[in-house]
Formats: sequence, C-alpha cells, structure tokens
Amino acid sequence: MARGKRVLVTGGAGFIGSHLCRRLLARGDEVVCVDNFYTGRKSNVLDLLADPLFEVLRHDITFPLYAEVDQIYNLACPASPIYYQFDPVQTTKTSVHGAINMLGLAKRLRAPILQASTSEVYGDPEVHPQHESYWGRVNPVGPRSCYDEGKRCAETLFFDYYRQHRLAIRVVRIFNTYGPNMQPDDGRVVSNFIVQALRGEDLTVYGDGSQTRSFCYVDDLVEALVRMMDNDAGDPGPLNLGNPRESTILEIAETVLRLTGSASRIVFRPLPVDDPRQRQPDIARARELLGWEPRTVLEDGLRKTIDYFRNSL
Ligand code: NAD
Ligand code: UDP
Repeated sequence: MARGKRVLVTGGAGFIGSHLCRRLLARGDEVVCVDNFYTGRKSNVLDLLADPLFEVLRHDITFPLYAEVDQIYNLACPASPIYYQFDPVQTTKTSVHGAINMLGLAKRLRAPILQASTSEVYGDPEVHPQHESYWGRVNPVGPRSCYDEGKRCAETLFFDYYRQHRLAIRVVRIFNTYGPNMQPDDGRVVSNFIVQALRGEDLTVYGDGSQTRSFCYVDDLVEALVRMMDNDAGDPGPLNLGNPRESTILEIAETVLRLTGSASRIVFRPLPVDDPRQRQPDIARARELLGWEPRTVLEDGLRKTIDYFRNSL
C-alpha cells in the first residue's frame, strides 16, 4: 500500500484542528498534531492517541519547531473573542511569530503550507457579501485588532514567502464555523446558545440580535481545507470558505430554543465593541476552484452539535 503523507497540524487539539486530524488519519496520512493547549483540549483527540499514525507534541508555535513533514496546516491561534482578547500580545505573537516559524519550516522542507485565516480580515465590512478582492475595514487599535491584524499580517507573510521564496502557500479565509468539539465556555455564539439552552439559562443575545453571520458546519469546512491543500492548480488563494446562508443572531437563538425544546428565555446584552454588523462569504471562487460547497443545512448541523453538548456537558 502506498504510504500516506506526513502532515503537521498546528492547533490540532482545537475545535477545527481535531476534526482535520481525524479526517487526515481516515485517509491514511500520518499526523503530527502540535498544540500548546491554550484553547485546545486533550479530550478532543483522546480517541486518536491509540492510532500509531497519530502523534501529539505540546509546543508553542511562537518558538521554532523542528519536524520532518510533507504538508503543514497552520491552525494554531485562539479563535474565540474571549480567549484571543485575554492575552492579546500572545495572540498577535501566535499569528505573526507563529507564521514566521511555520513558514521557515515549510521553506526548509519545501512543503506546502496552508494558513487558516479568517473572515475577520474584512473587519466590519462595507461590501456585502464579502469577495476575496475586498480589502476590508479593520480597526487597527481596538480590542479585536490583536486577532484581525495578526491574521492580516500572517497573510502578508504568506504572500511574501510565496513571491520571495516561491513557497507553495494556501491561504483560506474561514467564516464562522461550528460543530462538536467546540469548548462549552469559549464564548462563541453557537456554543453559548446551545449550552445556555441545555442548562435552562437565559440565552444572551448581544445588541438587538439583528447583526448577521453565516455558519458553516465543521465537516464541510474540513473537506474544503483538504481540497485546498491538495488543489492541483497550486492556487495560493486567498479563498473564502464558509456557508453563504446568512442568519441574524436572533434567528440562531430562536432556532436553538426550538431544536433543544428548552424553556430558556432570550435576554439582550450590550453589543461588544467593533462587533461586525453583517457577514456573508462570497464562495464563487471556492466553488470554481475546488468544486466545493457546504452540504450541511443549518438545522442538521445544529442538531449534531446539540447532541454533542448533551453528551459532554
Ligand atoms: P480553537 O481555539 O479551538 O483552536 C486553536 C488551537 O490552537 C487550540 O488547540 C489552541 O490550544 C492552539 N494554540 C493557540 N495558540 C497556540 C500557540 N501559540 N502554539 C500552539 N498552539 C496554539 O479554534 P478553532 O475554531 O479550531 O480555530 C482554528 C483556526 O481557524 C484558528 O487559526 C482560527 O483563527 C481559524 N478560524 C476559525 C473560525 C471558526 O469559526 N472556528 C473562523 C475563522 C478562522
Ligand atoms: N453573540 C451573542 N451572544 C453570545 C455570543 C455572541 O449575541 O452569547 C453575538 C456576537 O456579538 C456576534 C455574533 O454573535 O455578533 C457572533 O459572535 P462570535 O463570537 O461567535 O463570532 P464573531 O463575532 O467572531 O463572528
């Protein structure tokens, strides 16, 4: 049997990373998961530890890493506002120093490297839906800037390594993603609402709930990550990945209440600073390049996520 690839996944014990590790192992790749466990958890990858093709290294990517691999997925970075704002300097370091370290590794190995960028590079956008050609509207000095500007600088570094060193890069801009293995306390809206509904607590809608997001189920997102890494055209991106179905936050709260059958109430809380008003990916490029689009409808994905939290809380 042909040997699979040896693949490095930074942030592999986190929400998306743990699904990606599972997916790569399932197709016969060997996976080296690197994580400092800031927001990731061993429980996310516990069932993988018995697999001889799976390895976990506790390591902070702001420090150099020596490994021998064929491909690198750089996912390490806290993604939830609560956690990325807790230690904003470390968040910027993770995006910027982490990118420099992983790009240096990729350069030595001549290995393709994928960067998990974010829709936050568009900030609070004036253009709707957001196409890759839009440069964004980001506050450089606000509480979200450590994440948004860190990710923007990482994109710059990736494209400079592409132009200067001819490195095979892939930059994907991930829009809001949800599913099993999110942390119950990580503050993102889907996990917050589900956990609140299951515990019989009030669902906390920030602002009046009219702001929008577009939610992608994690299996769909992981499929696109793998297709992008393997794309024959060697297209570097940037490429939007997400589900174009847009919902208001109030609709999400109401849907979670209906699907859980919870008697919780919806309460309104102040809108956080710089909270984007609306967000929806234009995924025409992903459709064309990868022949990909999300398949999971919101209610099915929410049901699977609710089942996960019912079993794990
Ligand atoms: P997550 O917080 O669950 O996972 C991030 C992982 O990175 C965690 O396991 C954490 O411990 C690890 N990590 C953080 N700093 C590190 C460091 N310095 N060294 C090593 N490991 C470190 O978040 P996620 O939702 O799985 O997001 C994964 C990636 O996708 C992130 O880069 C995030 O910015 C990006 N992304 C996610 C979403 C989303 O909706 N989930 C949207 C856009 C972009
Ligand atoms: N949000 C909310 N209640 C919560 C958590 C979040 O109303 O308990 C809102 C938040 O203000 C934002 C949206 O839901 O408008 C998505 O928030 P999240 O932190 O999940 O993602 P991001 O803002 O980074 O897209």
